[in-house]
Amino acid sequence: MAKYPFLPRAKQIMSELDVNLADLGALKEIVERAKQRLTASLIFEFRADKPNKKIDVEITSFPVATLIVGGVNDDTLTKRYALFEAKKMYNYLTTEKDKVVLEIAQFFKWKRVTKFEATHGELTVLNYKMHFVDYLNNAASSLVYDSRWKLVNHPLHEGQVEVTLREVCRLLQEEIRKYLENRAAGKLPQIPPIIQDTVDEIKAEYHKIKPHVTEFDKMRVFAEESEYPPCIQHLYDRVVKGQHLSHLERFALVTYLLHQGISIDAIVTLFAGLSDFRQAQTRYQVEHLAGQRGSKTVYRPPNCATLRTHGVCIKLEDPTCRTIKSPLTYHLRKKPLDKKGQ
Ligand code: SF4
Repeated sequence: MAKYPFLPRAKQIMSELDVNLADLGALKEIVERAKQRLTASLIFEFRADKPNKKIDVEITSFPVATLIVGGVNDDTLTKRYALFEAKKMYNYLTTEKDKVVLEIAQFFKWKRVTKFEATHGELTVLNYKMHFVDYLNNAASSLVYDSRWKLVNHPLHEGQVEVTLREVCRLLQEEIRKYLENRAAGKLPQIPPIIQDTVDEIKAEYHKIKPHVTEFDKMRVFAEESEYPPCIQHLYDRVVKGQHLSHLERFALVTYLLHQGISIDAIVTLFAGLSDFRQAQTRYQVEHLAGQRGSKTVYRPPNCATLRTHGVCIKLEDPTCRTIKSPLTYHLRKKPLDKKGQ
């Protein structure tokens, strides 16, 4: 229950503990652990999140952290924290027995998940079947652009989709993320004056790193005003939603952003939402592409012909795109063309 503190049984344990939110100031240890959950989510570092050995502290710190997020009342922080907790729970889930995974699927009212022996060529493996509606409800949110999640790539029989255990856990991660986001953004108990200091501390700490997060929100505004090539805008939108990008897509996006003067910190932060994110590794790779490592080569994004060959080019009919050979020249060409059109 300490691992999945949103479940009813965890709430029951809390009510048995008779924790009164108004007295939280006295329960310093709980507030400290709640704060640690949040600070770890700010830097998206699981190693900084150290579960408390006392089960009552661990469970209770979860609703307190939600309360603090609600108090800070910042949409990007809410999403970040929900994603962090959901990803952490995904990591736990992949090591659990079926019983636990199924209990969580039941909590989200999934119709049915059954285990069966699947044969793939000469190989027999234990796979799972789940209702296609539950599959689509979750795969269609942030996983839709990853072809591995397309329904056509999964055997489907009588409304049941065949999936691996890891895929079930990944889909549950989506459920948990949405659930936690809604909880933190919904109606919460009034913040006791006694933990207002912690809310203020987290707010101040978040504002320190927020420029890296909001740097991309600013980019989005430019992108929406068509300052950036359609392919790059599309990759950016996908990465923000935590969707999988191929190696070439990551390379194109990172090198383009670096050429636009976006900082390495901001780029690393942008990738934090991906399921395979490793902070140190991502930083190393971005620094390498920026010419700060190895051969010191500053890499350029692939040209349009290469991006077209790999299906990354999405807007051939764009009048500016028809005149360029590299995404880097998009904004230079676009302005004169726009002026002509006016
Ligand atoms: S033509 Fe070039 S800049 Fe335009 S969408 Fe395609 S790859 Fe991107």
